[in-house]
Amino acid sequence: MITTDVENYPGFSEGIQGPDLMVEFRKQAERFGTEFLEEWITHVDLQQRPFTLYTDDKIIKADALIIASGASAKWLGIPGEAKTPHGFGGNGVSACATCDGPLPAFRNKHLIVVGGGDTAMEEATFLTRYAKRVFVVHRRDKLRASKIMQEKAFRNDKIEFIWNTDVTAIIGTNEQGVTGVDLRNVETGAESVMNCEGVFIAIGHKPNTHLFKGQLDMDAVGYIITNGHSTGTNIPGVFACGDVQDSVYRQAVTAAGTGCMAAIDAERFLDHLPIELPSGEEVTIEGEHITPDRKLIITPDGEVIPNEPEAALVEE
Ligand SMILES: Cc1cc2nc3c(=O)[nH]c(=O)nc-3n(C[C@H](O)[C@H](O)[C@H](O)COP(=O)(O)OP(=O)(O)OC[C@H]3O[C@@H](n4cnc5c(N)ncnc54)[C@H](O)[C@@H]3O)c2cc1C
Repeated sequence: MITTDVENYPGFSEGIQGPDLMVEFRKQAERFGTEFLEEWITHVDLQQRPFTLYTDDKIIKADALIIASGASAKWLGIPGEAKTPHGFGGNGVSACATCDGPLPAFRNKHLIVVGGGDTAMEEATFLTRYAKRVFVVHRRDKLRASKIMQEKAFRNDKIEFIWNTDVTAIIGTNEQGVTGVDLRNVETGAESVMNCEGVFIAIGHKPNTHLFKGQLDMDAVGYIITNGHSTGTNIPGVFACGDVQDSVYRQAVTAAGTGCMAAIDAERFLDHLPIELPSGEEVTIEGEHITPDRKLIITPDGEVIPNEPEAALVEE
C-alpha cells in the first residue's frame, strides 16, 4: 500500500496509518499459517501447469495464482512531486482525491487538479465538497473527459479551468507543505507562480500487469479482465484482485474485498470445484469445462456430456 493516512477503512474510527494497517493484515494472515516470501517476480509462465514464477534467483511453482500487484498512479515527474522528505508527496501532493480530499489539510483551501480526462473531472468535482476553490490545470485547450463529466465540471462554480498550461514544479516548505505551483503556458511560454495549498495529480493510473502481457486478457489500459462476480481470469486457476483488475473503485477496502473473493475462488478451484471465467464458462482443476448456459460439460479429452442430474438423484 502506498498511502499513509487511511481514514476510510472500516473498523478504524480514528483512521490508521497505511503501514500500520499492513502490519495488522500481515499478523492476521500469519496467524492462519500464511508464509511470506519477499521477492520481486520478474516473469511468469502461465501456459503450463503448475504455473511457474521467476525471481532473480528463485523459481516458484503454483497450482493456483492470485495476482494482487496493484496499479500505480501516473506522475508528472516534476520537482516537488516526490514523497516527503524529497518533495511534498503526502504533504500536500496526492493522486487520490477520494482518499485525501476530506483531510483537514485540504479543507477550505485552494487546490489544483492536474489533468483533463474523466479522472481529473471526477477528482475536481469531488474536491469542491471540501475545498474553497479548485483549479483544473490542463495542457490543452479542450478536455479529453466524456461530455457528461465535462458538463458537470463546467457547471460547478467552484471549479476554474486554466488551459494550455503545464505545471512545471510544486513549491512549498516542509513545515507548511505545498504553497504553490510553477506554471508555464505551452503556447506563449509565459511562466507564472500560482498560490495553492494542495495539488492532486489526476493523469491516470497504470496497472502493474506488464508481467502478464500476452498471457492474460486485459483491457486497453492493461487492467486484468475478471468477470465481476468471480475473480477468475481467462486462465483457469489464475485469479486477480485489488487495483490490478479495478479501474473504478481503487480503494483499500475494495482491494481487501476482492482479495477475499480471490482467496475463496482459489480454494474452490484447488478443492476441484468449478470456478467461473470471464467468458461465463466454468472450469475445474481437472480441465472440465461447463458451458456458459450450464447445459454441457466438456471433458479434457473433448467428450461432451449433458450437465443434468443423475437419474437416480432425480428420482429421490
Ligand atoms: C496517495 C494515495 C492515497 C491513498 N489513500 C487511500 C485511503 O485513504 N483509503 C483507501 O481505501 N485507499 C487509498 N488509496 C488506494 C489504496 O492504496 C489502493 O486501493 C490499495 O492499496 C490497492 O491494494 P492492492 O493490494 O490491489 O495493491 P497495492 O496496495 O498497490 O499492492 C500491490 C503490491 O504488489 C507489489 N508488486 C507489484 N508488482 C510486483 C512484482 N512484479 N513482484 C512482486 N511484487 C509486486 C507492489 O510492490 C505492492 O506491494 C490511496 C492510493 C494512493 C495512491
